[in-house]
Amino acid sequence: MSSTGQEPSIFTRIAAREVPATIVAETERIIAFTDIAPQAPVHVVITPKTSEYSNVVELAAGDPGLLTELIEVADAVAARLSNGQFRLVFNTGATVGQTVFHVHAHLLAPQAAGGTLGEGTLGFR
Ligand code: AMP
Repeated sequence: MSSTGQEPSIFTRIAAREVPATIVAETERIIAFTDIAPQAPVHVVITPKTSEYSNVVELAAGDPGLLTELIEVADAVAARLSNGQFRLVFNTGATVGQTVFHVHAHLLAPQAAGGTLGEGTLGFR
C-alpha cells in the first residue's frame, strides 16, 4: 500500500520491477515499455515513475517539465524503434478509454523497416 492508502498502479509496479515488462527506455523520472496489447506496429507506454498525476491535464498543471521530459523520451524512442514519426495519445477519462489512472502516453508508430500506420492501425480505441 502507498502512503495514500491506495494500491500501487500497474505502471508503478512495472517501474519497481515487480511486474515484468519489456522496458525500452528509462530515465530518472520516466519509464517506457511495450504495451501488452499493441494497437500499432510500435506501441510503447511512456509514463512518469511518480503516480502523483492521474492524467495529462494534471501533469501539465503540476509539473510541465516532467511532461516535456516524457515527450523527449517519446521522440527518442520513436527515433530508435521507428522512423522518428509518431502519434502520441493521452487517454483522459474513463469514457474515452482510460483504464490506468497514472498518467501515460501511448506512442504509436510504424515499424522501423518502413510501412505506414494504415487504416488498420490508425484508430486507437
Ligand atoms: P489506457 O487505456 O489509456 O489507460 O492505457 C493503459 C494501457 O496499459 C493499455 O493499452 C494496456 O494494454 C496497457 N497495459 C496494461 N497492463 C500492462 C502491462 N502489464 N504491461 C504493458 N502494458 C500494459
